[in-house]
Amino acid sequence: MASPKYIFVVGGVMSGIGKGVATSSIGRILKSKGFNVTAIKIDPYINVDAGTMNPTEHGEVFVLEDGYETDQDMGNYERFLDTTLPSINYMTTGRVYQEVIRRERNLEYGGKNVEVVPDIPLEVLRRISEAQKGANADITLIEVGGTIGEYQNIIFLEAARMLKQKYPRDVAVVMLSYVPIPGNIGEMKTKPTQYAARSLNGVGLQADVILARATVPLDAKRKEKIAIFCNILPERVISAPDVSSIYEVPLNYEKDGMGDILCDVLGLDRRPTDLSQWEQFVAKSKNGGETLRIAVVGKYFESGEFVLADSYISVLESLKHAAYANDVKLQISYLDSEVYEKDPGKLDDLGSYNGVLVPGGFGTRGVEGIIAAVQYAREHQVPYFGLCYGMQLAVVETARHKAGLDGANTVEIDKAAPHPVIDVMPDQVEKLTKADYGGTMRLGSYDCVLTPGTIAHDAYKKDTITERHRHRYEVNPEYIERIKKSGMVFSGKSPSGILMEIAELPKSEHPFFVGTQFHPEFQSRPLNPHPLFVAFIKAAKEHMAGSLVVV
Ligand code: GLN
Repeated sequence: MASPKYIFVVGGVMSGIGKGVATSSIGRILKSKGFNVTAIKIDPYINVDAGTMNPTEHGEVFVLEDGYETDQDMGNYERFLDTTLPSINYMTTGRVYQEVIRRERNLEYGGKNVEVVPDIPLEVLRRISEAQKGANADITLIEVGGTIGEYQNIIFLEAARMLKQKYPRDVAVVMLSYVPIPGNIGEMKTKPTQYAARSLNGVGLQADVILARATVPLDAKRKEKIAIFCNILPERVISAPDVSSIYEVPLNYEKDGMGDILCDVLGLDRRPTDLSQWEQFVAKSKNGGETLRIAVVGKYFESGEFVLADSYISVLESLKHAAYANDVKLQISYLDSEVYEKDPGKLDDLGSYNGVLVPGGFGTRGVEGIIAAVQYAREHQVPYFGLCYGMQLAVVETARHKAGLDGANTVEIDKAAPHPVIDVMPDQVEKLTKADYGGTMRLGSYDCVLTPGTIAHDAYKKDTITERHRHRYEVNPEYIERIKKSGMVFSGKSPSGILMEIAELPKSEHPFFVGTQFHPEFQSRPLNPHPLFVAFIKAAKEHMAGSLVVV
């Protein structure tokens, strides 16, 4: 293929309408046409990465294979494109400025004035080019966070303009806009989209394609209106109505010919799109069998269900992938663990679930409640899956209640615990004393060796796996023997044998009790669900079948 192509995806009218899913879906379509596609996310905030942000504020922190802490949209790209992306594919204003300032301090600008324009957009473009080259991408998608018209993202739009000015045939701009239907009028209004298109013109860019997000598909009249007022061909106005599953979005776009339109805009020969595997997956996701009840127990719940789903998006998607693979549907409830601290009687409610999952977390709030929930799941044979903190707290629970280690705890909660079964490894101590938190965790992919004959080995069907991490604390090596004696099996370990990566109970004792120090949710893909999630849902399905047996 001749020159590399670039598609900028920008947002009009308002944020939160699914630009990440839109970018991912465009990527999926182009990949299904046989193009090599990569995707970049630009976030306009000053934070250098997403590592220090609270999940209730920003949503999930998605960890890349190379350990970079990024925005949840990177997870969408990886899932939809079925690929792994490197850190160069993620940038924030902070990251870009940090690099320009580092170079200036290093005299790399040869005494020249360093200016916001063009030096900041030039660094943005340098990063885009590095990402494109690294992936050898035919087409590079660049999602610009935020909405057109915000001061924050102007330098990124300027980068798009500069690239388009240099390579007019190789750059496309897709604007995702919102078309409201105000209740009192009951009619679809295109004016906000028209204003957004003009604001985009104001920074020197013209949309080539407009994706019109609305509750329902656009009619011909509305498409015509947007076309005329936004200076675009009517067939390049694409309907993006609400759908029940995000995985339907690529199929919807293709109905309006998205792939071929983008080929036309970029001067590429049209090619057939093969979305057959994706279609099968979507069909499966709609069928489903019986409905399993899964309890997700944790904190970060104060902002209501809406934000919650964002805080744990990869966990949620992994559960869905595994449910489709097991031909079941899921009803997921988010349960605030603090409730069990105030009212232990509430723990009995967990008996009505087919599985309990404790996701990752930090800090002290609600931890005793989580430990109580773990104990309930263990004692009542409810399938249990603990991710990171969920694994550490399962080890604490076993230490306290089975290994006779009274007061056992993680030092994250109790620095003076008589039995610090979860502790900081020596090389982390120095960083923590300096309170240098940004990037002090064990981050990114590490190998893990599995023990044959365990639930983990049976699920993965492999001896060595690679999984992504994001944590400061580890199972304390001094307590491993005592915890093992109480019946817990460490079925996954670091190749050195020092770090415990998976803890489980034998099948003879519990149908499914597994905790992972790593975050398996970062590697589950729609077409390739994660083996441990599949095994957990299978156990939940068996739990349901068991509870239906009348004796
Ligand atoms: N707070 C724990 C740690 O830092 C677990 C982190 C997590 O669940 N991601 O080790």
